[in-house]
Amino acid sequence: MKLVCPLCNGLYKIHKTCKVCLEPMEDKGPLVDYYDDYSPYLLDEITNEVDGVDKFKCLHHYQCTKCGFDENYAIDREIF
Ligand SMILES: [Zn+2]
Ligand SMILES: [Zn+2]
Repeated sequence: MKLVCPLCNGLYKIHKTCKVCLEPMEDKGPLVDYYDDYSPYLLDEITNEVDGVDKFKCLHHYQCTKCGFDENYAIDREIF
């Protein structure tokens, strides 16, 4: 039993709506992808430290497909 991010593991998608133009936003992936390409597990731990997000959350970068507005969302990890 471990905590996994449903988005990173392709379990399902979480849709967000742009606050500016109300168009659907696209998941650009976890913020860890923007740092470096270590192993996912190592990155997981680094992210938790760097972003100050607890281990029950995975920080994802979303960007609006229309206006480009972007925002980060803390996605709840689930027991898998
Ligand atoms: Zn994730
Ligand atoms: Zn937008």
